[in-house]
Amino acid sequence: MNVPGELQADLYKGFWVYMEQEEGRLLPVGLELLGKGRELADEMGEVLTAVILGQDIAALGEEALRYGADEVLLADHPLLTGFNTDAYTKVMADIIEARKPNVLLMGATFNGRDLAGRLAVRLSTGLTAHVTRLEVDKESSLLLSAVPGFGGSILAVIKTEFGRPQMSTVSPGIFKPLEPDDVRRGKVERVDVRLRQSDIRCRVLEREVVPAEDIGSAERIIVAGMGTGGDMKLVDDLAAALHASTGVTRPLVDIGVAPREKQVGSTGVSLRSKLVVVLGASGASHFVAGLRDADTVIALNKDKEAPIFDESDVCVVGDIFEILPRLLEELEGKVMVV
Ligand SMILES: Cc1cc2nc3c(=O)[nH]c(=O)nc-3n(C[C@H](O)[C@H](O)[C@H](O)COP(=O)(O)OP(=O)(O)OC[C@H]3O[C@@H](n4cnc5c(N)ncnc54)[C@H](O)[C@@H]3O)c2cc1C
Repeated sequence: MNVPGELQADLYKGFWVYMEQEEGRLLPVGLELLGKGRELADEMGEVLTAVILGQDIAALGEEALRYGADEVLLADHPLLTGFNTDAYTKVMADIIEARKPNVLLMGATFNGRDLAGRLAVRLSTGLTAHVTRLEVDKESSLLLSAVPGFGGSILAVIKTEFGRPQMSTVSPGIFKPLEPDDVRRGKVERVDVRLRQSDIRCRVLEREVVPAEDIGSAERIIVAGMGTGGDMKLVDDLAAALHASTGVTRPLVDIGVAPREKQVGSTGVSLRSKLVVVLGASGASHFVAGLRDADTVIALNKDKEAPIFDESDVCVVGDIFEILPRLLEELEGKVMVV
């Protein structure tokens, strides 16, 4: 366990990426973190290790190597078939305590966030959640993890001095995976898993997979902010006219207007769309983190000073409830080529 002041940081070596898998498939966020991890591990002079938990996951190890890992640790066990908080926390904590990595990156998915928080407490180390930027501090060689803070008005850069591993979670879509290299080789090691049924306090009795739209890859998207007053009718009508998907800012999810998978931003989805139309969103940094990879952003806001205009290619100052009905009228009957 890490005790402030007693940490022997030089015992901790290696740059780890936890690769979440679901039903035998690696989630894209793990591949994205391997891409960024490759760059940072090289800068820090660390070996890049992918860690995968599950059952019958040998093929996933090879995939992680193709996407940039130097080596892979596989924890393969029947009790790790599906994600289970108790089982995954115990096994990850055991591996980390035995091998002492310097850095651990994880995806900020539902399960990744659950696991990361528990691990950080168990290992008495720091955890920077929902990071939007990662760098290496030239002087100390420590990881610098940036997160929007105080409602998004600042970008807080966080360094873990008293604790190892240095842990961060990153939302899907923030970084890009490397092109897979089919000739890339590396060591794949199976670790000993000490896990009994009695280590697991809760059991999953039933699992229902609800198909959810992946708005991150939508070519065109209309994103509604609080300025719409939660009136999704106009937003849906514009989306239908432009053959676009819809997304929302976080407050609209919080008040139940849209499901969580529609949320754009640092704690939601990052858009890689060709066209994003933002209606009535102020442009808080947590939100605009989700627009960084979009090609063209058009924003409509009645406040000409709204920060969203700093992030937009086309800025329309006006009232949604005046402009949108007129725009829809104009679009009516027009055929859009898709
Ligand atoms: C840890 C943390 C993580 C967060 N993660 C996210 C995230 O992932 N995504 C996210 O979106 N937020 C996130 N937030 C919240 C974020 O900081 C902002 O509070 C949020 O993005 C604001 O949403 P909004 O722009 O819809 O609302 P507001 O800030 O209230 O802005 C509404 C805008 O609508 C305009 N407007 C009002 N009426 C009209 C009208 N009739 N016509 C035109 N314009 C109008 C106003 O001028 C204003 O600019 C996070 C916050 C924290 C603390």
